[in-house]
Amino acid sequence: MSSEPDVVLIGAGIMSSTVGVFLKELEPSFSIAMFETLEDAALESSEAWNNAGTGHAANCEMNYTPERPDGSVDISRALEVNVEFDLSRQFWSYLVKKGAIGDPRSFIHPVPHMSFVHDAGNVAFLRKRYAAMSAHHCYEGMEYSEDRGKIAEWVPLVIEGRAAGEPVAATRIISGTDVDYGALTHHLVHHLVAQPNCSVHYRTRVTGFARAADKRWRVEVQDLASGERRSVTAKFVFIGAGGGALPLLQKSGIPEGHGYAGFPVSGIWLRCDDAAINKRHHAKVYGKASVGSPPMSVPHLDTRVIGGQHSLLFGPYAGFSSKFLKHGSLLDLAESIRPANIEPILAVARDNFDLTEYLIEQVLQSESHRLATLDEYYPKAEAKDWRLQLAGQRVQIIKPDVKRVGLLEFGTELVGASDTSLVALLGASPGASTAAFIAVNVLQKCFAGELAAQAWLPKLKEIIPSYGIDLIDDADFTRKIRTETARVLRVDDVNSPRAPTQAEGRAAAAR
Ligand SMILES: Cc1cc2nc3c(=O)[nH]c(=O)nc-3n(C[C@H](O)[C@H](O)[C@H](O)COP(=O)(O)OP(=O)(O)OC[C@H]3O[C@@H](n4cnc5c(N)ncnc54)[C@H](O)[C@@H]3O)c2cc1C
Repeated sequence: MSSEPDVVLIGAGIMSSTVGVFLKELEPSFSIAMFETLEDAALESSEAWNNAGTGHAANCEMNYTPERPDGSVDISRALEVNVEFDLSRQFWSYLVKKGAIGDPRSFIHPVPHMSFVHDAGNVAFLRKRYAAMSAHHCYEGMEYSEDRGKIAEWVPLVIEGRAAGEPVAATRIISGTDVDYGALTHHLVHHLVAQPNCSVHYRTRVTGFARAADKRWRVEVQDLASGERRSVTAKFVFIGAGGGALPLLQKSGIPEGHGYAGFPVSGIWLRCDDAAINKRHHAKVYGKASVGSPPMSVPHLDTRVIGGQHSLLFGPYAGFSSKFLKHGSLLDLAESIRPANIEPILAVARDNFDLTEYLIEQVLQSESHRLATLDEYYPKAEAKDWRLQLAGQRVQIIKPDVKRVGLLEFGTELVGASDTSLVALLGASPGASTAAFIAVNVLQKCFAGELAAQAWLPKLKEIIPSYGIDLIDDADFTRKIRTETARVLRVDDVNSPRAPTQAEGRAAAAR
């Protein structure tokens, strides 16, 4: 490995690997070194069971469609997330067509996305939400029903055993997906390091940074097997270290990172591997969040396809752990506290009492409480069919704010040096689904010169044909790109339904 790579990527998760592949495709002469603490890629949040694997297109997540004070439903955030996912679909399709990813079924599967509610107030909300969404071309093909028979056809487990007379409603869109982000990350890392001058270094922790006289970054690393310390010097550093990004941002010392802090939220799933049950459910069914819960804690009953095996996942049940990474240290939170971020942390504690209450309630949940929540989505569920599965850690962003001193953010944010030589990705939602959108943002923020000089544009448009086109406005282009990416990725398209595979036919018969 060169001690002077052009680019250093920190972390071997979906984010660094996506940014790395984009950079190498656009500038094949780049030398790239990736450093990862653990012994393989995708062992933290990007690992399949550490996240829910939803290809988030804001089809079913009701937290993206709040009700306005006048009672109408605001779908603007949902539309943004929806078209961000189109960038990932185009990027993955490019790699499949190029042969860099063999079989798309190794990481992505068609799984309808549904929202499900019960009780009259929620039904009225979902009806309005459906009317607003289905009128937009981004959500054409969305179905709606308040009819138990119809919903039972879609998801029998959700309806069987439910009290008669209880109002229910659901939306469904067949173009939804389940994504194994762990498998995808492996594809990306393999593709990257198979190319000249690119390398990945496992069991190697980035421990600090210094600025060289020529403004490049000296990145200090430690080999965890030998204990040996060394450094490499790079022109550009991407901190895609997941929960480890905040401490590294702090270590970089860039003023843009001052005042930032992190709030870790852990998660637990219930998991069912019983084939007889799983073949009767083929959807990701999202409900409404409880009061005070963070948006990513919306309960959902999901089909997962991991390593060719079908399972069901329910959750997440949120929890609190002071670790920033699943394999991190209990001291992570304490060690991230700085004089500059104490006031924002205190302001967030003051303004988010609901969240504190919610987390305490979640942490104290017993097995019977957990099953009672599952019952809302699967009334006939039996404890014996389910086991606990520890999910990944998410570190929510606490950022300084002029008005409120500190703000708690549930999205993601790129925080970078003013000279664009280093950028860190903080936060975790909508997450892995929008990795390509985040990579494009990194390009626009840190490689604006290369983009403006047109040198990279033709290639970028080959990777993302919709680059420069607003899919929220351009219905024809959206339809065209969705049909094409559905064909390449072998997922469902509302405009050109795919014939079911034999396995899908058998599963439909079992439902
Ligand atoms: C419970 C849960 C559910 C989720 N559900 C979804 C979902 O349904 N859909 C979706 O799109 N997203 C989801 N997400 C979010 C998604 O998992 C993350 O956004 C995404 O995996 C983050 O990728 P990453 O590469 O930034 O981080 P990670 O995958 O965590 O990778 C970061 C890597 O950096 C390494 N690292 C850290 N510090 C250092 C250091 N100092 N030196 C070297 N290496 C270091 C870590 O070991 C790790 O391997 C979910 C997340 C959670 C926790």
